Amino acid sequence: MKRDTGKNRNITDKWRLSTQLVRGGTYRSEIGETSESMFMTSGYAYDCAEDAAARFEGEQDGYTYSRLRNPTCAMFEDKMALIEGAETARSTATGMAAMSQAMLAIVKAGDHVVSSKTLFGSCRVFIEDILTKFGVSCTLVDGKDNEAWKNAFRPNTTAVFLESPANPTLDVVDIEFVCDLAHENNALVVVDNVFATPLLQKPIKMGADIVIYSSTKHIDGQGRCLGGCILTSEEILDEYILPLIRHTGPNLSPFNAWVMLKGMETMDLRVEKMCLNASKVAHGLRDMGCFTSVNYPGFDDFSQRDLVEKQMAAGGSVVTVFLPGGRAQAFKFLNALEVTDISNNVGDAKSLMTHPASTTHKSVEESARLDMGITEGMLRLSVGLEHADDLLEDFARAAKIAGL
Ligand SMILES: *Cc1c(COP(=O)(O)O)cnc(C)c1O
Repeated sequence: MKRDTGKNRNITDKWRLSTQLVRGGTYRSEIGETSESMFMTSGYAYDCAEDAAARFEGEQDGYTYSRLRNPTCAMFEDKMALIEGAETARSTATGMAAMSQAMLAIVKAGDHVVSSKTLFGSCRVFIEDILTKFGVSCTLVDGKDNEAWKNAFRPNTTAVFLESPANPTLDVVDIEFVCDLAHENNALVVVDNVFATPLLQKPIKMGADIVIYSSTKHIDGQGRCLGGCILTSEEILDEYILPLIRHTGPNLSPFNAWVMLKGMETMDLRVEKMCLNASKVAHGLRDMGCFTSVNYPGFDDFSQRDLVEKQMAAGGSVVTVFLPGGRAQAFKFLNALEVTDISNNVGDAKSLMTHPASTTHKSVEESARLDMGITEGMLRLSVGLEHADDLLEDFARAAKIAGL
């Protein structure tokens, strides 16, 4: 129990995905528990002072303090690393903690960051407003435009950030192309893979140096806990990530890590069903014929279909719809919903719909929002696990009430 050699943990990449999701990374104590233990402890006791000194020296395996590592969090991290195909992982309290810590770890004053411009609201604020306060400049590009990526690099570019598919516009970035370009320019690439989930897209295989998640989304998948994860190589972890996070403490609570572990056991079933549902709902919404447009990466005629086929296993669980009547009509539509909730989370078992311009992207200036394609008539739908027909009947009813 004292040692964390990894020998007792199920860390094998020989297993298939569903076995890894259920058993990967699990550490079973001498009690023989079948469900993972929740180690709600901040500290660890040593048999003798020499052991404490040896552990701090790094000569002895084992835990010292939960800001540095905790067994329940370590199980979650090992399971995440396994399914991502990453060498290592560290969990964080939220997705934004994962994103901000990963970026802070790899830049310094005077550096320049290139990022796709369509991002989750807080990611954009972090790159554009927060990093710049510390003397890190940025260039935001249309993530769909490979030429724009090429032209954005400067001699002091050290980091690239991208989200694909992007929240909420579902723009897709050619991850392999951007990673190759970044590496030619000696920059590290951080990919926010939240919308694709670790099951549909593997950025590390495409060259990404760091992948981050909000595990609040499909990983918990049942709307219970906030969480996040940073996945990378041992080398980047040691050189960049640990020197920051050991001393800044963005940690996930062991309780939340335990909830995430339970969530992961069913993640493949949930994500598969959500993608099927999202495809049915997206087609159904489009067939209703009353929206200005319906956007879903799984559509055969999706504008970036080839790229989706190249790098994603399915179209994901998020759909966007555009209403002709702007905010007033979008609000009327939302207010008429009886099955889908008005809520700004994604990846939940419950279908959730939000008006990005007034919620998730409210903190982004209006001109920047419009530049990203977030109009007042746009609604973002995260499709859950309900029956697709119940969702569609609800949308059809709401459309009538909203005068569509
Ligand atoms: C939700 C989300 C985040 C932030 O995650 P939190 O857990 O809410 O901090 C980051 N990126 C994307 C794409 C998201 O959807």
